[in-house]
Amino acid sequence: MWFRCILLSFAIACGADTAPPAVILHNGRVYTLAWDEPGRDGAPAANAPWSRANGWHPDARAVVIQGDSILWVGDDSTALAMRGPRTEVIDVDGAVVLPGFVDAHTHVAELGQAMDRVNLTGVPDESTAVARVAERAAQVPPGEWILGYGWDEGAWANRYPDRRRLSQRIPDHPVVLRSLHGFASWANDRALAALGITDTTASPSGGEIRKDARGAPTGLFLNRAVQLVDDRLPPPPPPQRDSQVVRALMTLAAGGFTAVHEAGAARDVVASLRRLEAAGRLPLRVYAMLNGRDTTLVREWARRGPLRETPSGMLVIRAVKAYYDGALGSRGAQLLEDYSDRAGHRGVAGGAYGFDREAVAAAMVAGFQVGIHAIGDAGNRATLDFIDSVTRATPAARALRHRVEHAQVVDPADHPRFAALGVIASVQPPHAVEDMAWAGERLGPGRVTTAYAWRTLRAAGAPLVFSSDLPGSDWNLFYGLHSAITRQDRSGMPDGGWYPEQHMTPEEAVRGYTAWAAWASFDEGHAGRLAPGRRADLTVLSVDPFTVASSQDLLAGTIRLTMVDGRIVHDARHSR
Ligand SMILES: [Zn+2]
Repeated sequence: MWFRCILLSFAIACGADTAPPAVILHNGRVYTLAWDEPGRDGAPAANAPWSRANGWHPDARAVVIQGDSILWVGDDSTALAMRGPRTEVIDVDGAVVLPGFVDAHTHVAELGQAMDRVNLTGVPDESTAVARVAERAAQVPPGEWILGYGWDEGAWANRYPDRRRLSQRIPDHPVVLRSLHGFASWANDRALAALGITDTTASPSGGEIRKDARGAPTGLFLNRAVQLVDDRLPPPPPPQRDSQVVRALMTLAAGGFTAVHEAGAARDVVASLRRLEAAGRLPLRVYAMLNGRDTTLVREWARRGPLRETPSGMLVIRAVKAYYDGALGSRGAQLLEDYSDRAGHRGVAGGAYGFDREAVAAAMVAGFQVGIHAIGDAGNRATLDFIDSVTRATPAARALRHRVEHAQVVDPADHPRFAALGVIASVQPPHAVEDMAWAGERLGPGRVTTAYAWRTLRAAGAPLVFSSDLPGSDWNLFYGLHSAITRQDRSGMPDGGWYPEQHMTPEEAVRGYTAWAAWASFDEGHAGRLAPGRRADLTVLSVDPFTVASSQDLLAGTIRLTMVDGRIVHDARHSR
């Protein structure tokens, strides 16, 4: 119906069968991103709202929304003339309106689970901690797991708690409480029974299952025994998983995001997302990558094929997340040469690290995009080799916009291969500023210049997409933009930025979280720009990333409004 209006010259004089717009946003600094892509050096396109003399300026002031789509974008008076009796007219008061922001590499289920834990940070002693857990237990059905975190294993080292008091006060729920730094865990009787930890369970090497004089576990786990507990924890039951996912997504909506790319959804998370989609409970779009570590799950989906659309349009499952190597900080990323700070060591990768070539290839052949975690230069090369070999054998799989997740250290010989193979470099701007303290030690002065090399990748023609990898990193979108634009930490260090030649322009940073993310999820026809017929997914920000005077001002930005599918999912006007 909207196109009829447009054919009738943007009008006010739409057919009688056409409903008036549902929402008009006006008095805004609207950047449509409907102009051409910037050059590989970051230079704005000739048709961009930019001039050398005056810099950037918005290219519209109002957005008119009808149903789930954008009806019209342009000036205030034309927009306001379209209002009907029931149109919600929102004066955004000079705020910045952009296409909806996307975090293209998230672990939303983990964020939801973390938000659900009992917070014990700053708790002074065992009885206070137990009382706090008992409070939660009173609100949770018996038998349901209660997880907590934050008691200080350092401060409590001379008086470690055990299962006795915790089991007395909370007899009907299994309870596991992780310590602040993750080197200790504390469990009650119900948890020990549910986890199958008994007198005969041996402590792992590098860890201790503490036992009493009779040889029974006390409920305290130290060092690597913490992992043993975590590995045995069951996923939350479906209703709890669902509420955790929704809660995490609502938090991200408040943070200005309209979509996420979930980087590795486990079987029960996939089930939760499908339930939530069917029930109309997904507040944000979720582009879910299947967890490639579960090869049974991957093979099942390879047989049934991708889920390219759902009735609500809110869930897509057409990608697989796989892991090729480890992380740089813990020296797990696979390098071509030794780590500069550990001779003889080059990381872990490939089959030895759980990369199942056959399962991933089967998914690609079945039409799935694959996002492969690769951090070291050897890991990146082997990942590109793998994608090359599969797409040579199955040329149709070439067009699936495969991704390297992280692409942190890339040998110069491999930079052009991203473009040649059509592979996206899915990078996390915050990682660069968080890793800069030690990345040079791991890599040495020469090799570090090939790391977090966004400009080099883009100059070589690689498609980029930006994300936070939450909850491991701060996912505040202003911090993400700031990291991409300045390559400085929050305090503005180092001066001028860390290897500043690799920084992105404000336009590139914004596109990396919007238009490029849409492309990475095959959504460029519907999202990524504000234009008639596009989905009404948009973010309203208090600061203008294109023209903001200082990075401190950018970091101080707030989200005014988030709209998904024409629905307002966050509105700061009501929370002021
Ligand atoms: Zn991740």
